[in-house]
Amino acid sequence: GQCITHCPVGALRERDDTETVWDAIADPDKIVAVQVAPAVRAAWGEQLGLTRGEATIGKILDSLKKMGVDYAFDTTFSADLTIMEEGTEFIKRFTSGELKDLPMFTSCCPGWIRFIKTQYPGLVKYLSTAKSPQQMFGSVMKTYFAEQLKVAPERIYTVSVMPCVAKKAEREMELFYEEYAGHDVDAVITTRELVKMIRSAHINPKTLEDIPGDRPMQEGTGAGVIFGATGGVMEAALRSAYFLLKGKNPPADAFSKVRSQGFNQNNGVQEADFQIDDITVRTAVVSGLGNTRSLLDRILRGEVQYDFVEVMACPGGCVGGGGQPIHDGEERAFERGKNLYDLDQQAELRFSHENPDVRTMYERFFGNPNSHKAHMLLHTIHELL
Ligand code: SF4
Repeated sequence: GQCITHCPVGALRERDDTETVWDAIADPDKIVAVQVAPAVRAAWGEQLGLTRGEATIGKILDSLKKMGVDYAFDTTFSADLTIMEEGTEFIKRFTSGELKDLPMFTSCCPGWIRFIKTQYPGLVKYLSTAKSPQQMFGSVMKTYFAEQLKVAPERIYTVSVMPCVAKKAEREMELFYEEYAGHDVDAVITTRELVKMIRSAHINPKTLEDIPGDRPMQEGTGAGVIFGATGGVMEAALRSAYFLLKGKNPPADAFSKVRSQGFNQNNGVQEADFQIDDITVRTAVVSGLGNTRSLLDRILRGEVQYDFVEVMACPGGCVGGGGQPIHDGEERAFERGKNLYDLDQQAELRFSHENPDVRTMYERFFGNPNSHKAHMLLHTIHELL
C-alpha cells in the first residue's frame, strides 16, 4: 500500500470493486454482510466534509444500510478476536522457549507478509499464524453467523471496507474446513471506494445517524480500535497477554510506550521492554518497509533482541494506508492515529478479553482461544511464494 499512497500512477491503476458490491446488494439470493476496519473511521470524513467528531463508525454503518446491505459490522470486533488468538499464541511460544533466538512477528498486514515472504523467507516461521481481523471476520460470518441465521455459508456474501489496497489480494487466501470451502471475504473496497459509493447513492453525509453494528458481533473495545495505528496491535496484545499471565488487568495505559512518537523518529522503530512479574518481554514496533528492512537486518546481525515485533507496511500503520483519501503532499497518518488513540481513551472497554460478544462466541462456538476449531477457522499456514 505504501507506494500507492505516494504515487498517483498507482492510484490510477487501482482495481475498483464497487460494481461487484452493488451487484451483490442487488442480488436477492445473497445476504450481504459488510465489515469496516478501524482505520476507515479516522479518514472517510475527510472527503465528505465531515469533522472528526461527525465522522463516526456508526454513520459508516448507517450509510451501508442505506445502500442496501443486510448486515453491517465493525471490524474492531474481530480485532479483539485476533488479540485473543495472537496473544494466546504469543504466550505459548514465548514460555515454551521457541522465541529465545528470534521474535514472533505480527501477521495482520498483507503488505508486510508479502515482503517477508519474498525478502526474508527464513523468518516466515516466526510469523504469528493468526489470520488478520479481515479474514477472521469473514470466516466467522460464514460459520458462526451463518449458523445463527440458519442459512448455508454460500448465501452470505462478505464485503470488507479497508484502508488498504493489499487487502484485496489478501482475500484471495483459500480456506477449507468442514462447514465451508471458499473465501473468507468475497469483496474488498477501500475507504475511497466507500466514499464513491456513498456519493453515487446520493446519500447526504449530514443526514447519517449513529447506529450500532449488528448482533451478535456488535461490541468492539478500545484495544481493537487502535489496531489501525502503528503500535496498536502490540499494545492491545500486551494488555491481554498481561491478563493471561497474571489473571488480572494492568492499568489500560500500562503499555503506552509502544505508541509512535512520530514515525520519523528512531528509524521508525519504537522499542520497549516490559516487566511482568519475573518475566521481561522485549518488544519493537516498526512501520514502513524501508524501516522494517533495517530493523530485520539489525535483528539478524544480533545487534538487537526482541520477543515480539509488530510490523506495518505503511508509515504510521493502516491509518496511512493506500486505500485512504489522498491529500497531495500531505501525510495525515499521525493525526489520524491520534484520533484512534483518543477513541480508545474514551472507550468503556479497553481490553480485548473483556469484549462480551467475543466471549459469548468462544462459549458458543470456538471453546477456547487456539482450540482446534479456532485453528481451523482463525489461523493460517504461511506458505512461501
Ligand atoms: Fe494494508 Fe495496513 Fe498493511 Fe498498509 S499497514 S498494507 S493499510 S494492512
